[in-house]
Amino acid sequence: MARVSDARGTIESDARAARRKAMVKVEVPVINKTARAFRDAHFPGVDDATWNDWRWQVRNRLSTVEDFRRMLGVNALEAEAIAMQGLRLPVAVTPYYASLLTGLDCSEALRRCVIPAAAELDRSYGECGDPLAEDHDSPVPGIVHRYPDRVLFIATDICSTYCRYCTRSRLVGRKETRALRTRVWDQAIDYVRRTPQVRDVLVSGGDPFLLPDSALEYILSRLRAIPHVEMLRLGTKTPMVLPQRITPALVRMLKRYHPLFVSIHCTHPGELTPEAGQACARLADAGIPLGSQTVLLSGVNDNTETMLALMRGLLKNRVRPYYLYQCDQVEGTAHFRTPLSRGIEIMRGLRGFTSGYAIPHFVVDLPGGGGKTPVLPEYFQGRDGDELIFKNYEGREFRTLDPLPSADTDADRR
Ligand SMILES: *Cc1c(COP(=O)(O)O)cnc(C)c1O
Repeated sequence: MARVSDARGTIESDARAARRKAMVKVEVPVINKTARAFRDAHFPGVDDATWNDWRWQVRNRLSTVEDFRRMLGVNALEAEAIAMQGLRLPVAVTPYYASLLTGLDCSEALRRCVIPAAAELDRSYGECGDPLAEDHDSPVPGIVHRYPDRVLFIATDICSTYCRYCTRSRLVGRKETRALRTRVWDQAIDYVRRTPQVRDVLVSGGDPFLLPDSALEYILSRLRAIPHVEMLRLGTKTPMVLPQRITPALVRMLKRYHPLFVSIHCTHPGELTPEAGQACARLADAGIPLGSQTVLLSGVNDNTETMLALMRGLLKNRVRPYYLYQCDQVEGTAHFRTPLSRGIEIMRGLRGFTSGYAIPHFVVDLPGGGGKTPVLPEYFQGRDGDELIFKNYEGREFRTLDPLPSADTDADRR
């Protein structure tokens, strides 16, 4: 008898120990080797706890020419472009993300996303400040209501790191007072409350994770209290650019507002560091379904190999690829746009060659507010009598039976 109880006691304490170990593993934030080397070179004396404090990361963002020159060695053209900015889309990169811009194979690709190029100052044919005509579909400030049953809720205009191809460059990075934001939120929440067809609210920005926990909870709790709101979503790039923000406290708060989905903006497999992995794991462990959004960008991810690595890498981190976007016609982004055919070719290189779960929807968000519209490689080749002709993912031809309705059947129906 004693022995049985001993045995059980041992098993229980093993299980408890394993649980403790697993918890401890999640609680200690990781710092990868490259980030550590970057920190020691440019922020000497900064300890792990400080580096992992998301507010420190935000306060110490690289934003001046001098910062970039000292830490990343920008060239003269980049320096000029950085100096010229601030008029339109601000320049800011968290020290963490800056660490990815040195010493990795993919550093060049990642740099393109966050360090302005001289070409950014050009306005090319067809480009404008608000290509998706979001302002036109905005019934109250902070809301874009384009589709029948869901709205976009713009909770903030700030980001920790500004992507140079930003679709909302017209409004991000402006300084707003806390009071003004609360008033805008209240109006936006009120719009959702009095619009019963809205069953899905996508809280985005800017990046909503730049709000303090209490402010984000202010929004989520009020939206959740509206009976016709069936689900909430957050759109963010934080797990990739400021993974330190995904704290256990944040995740505990988010868990209270299920069903809650998080869409993570990511562009390159180089972003999938141990830190980003830990941030995704925390969200996923809280039962939050994770999706991804990627913009197809020239010189960053516009080849099948990179995209395949990104999509597989996301799945490994429990993020289900959701959208791949053709780059919007935003002012100053022509150097990022690829021909549509490049996206189609990449999609052709994914389907059949890897897990179906790894395949996003390739969409064009139509200028003028037409909405997200899917584009697919053409597998259907046409009809031959009662047969349909297809080409499969390998380019081999196959036929399926699809009898044309006969004259008799038509007569019967009448
Ligand atoms: C993308 C978007 C949504 C959400 O679209 P889904 O296809 O449901 O993810 C909602 N509103 C606006 C204005 C959008 O741009």
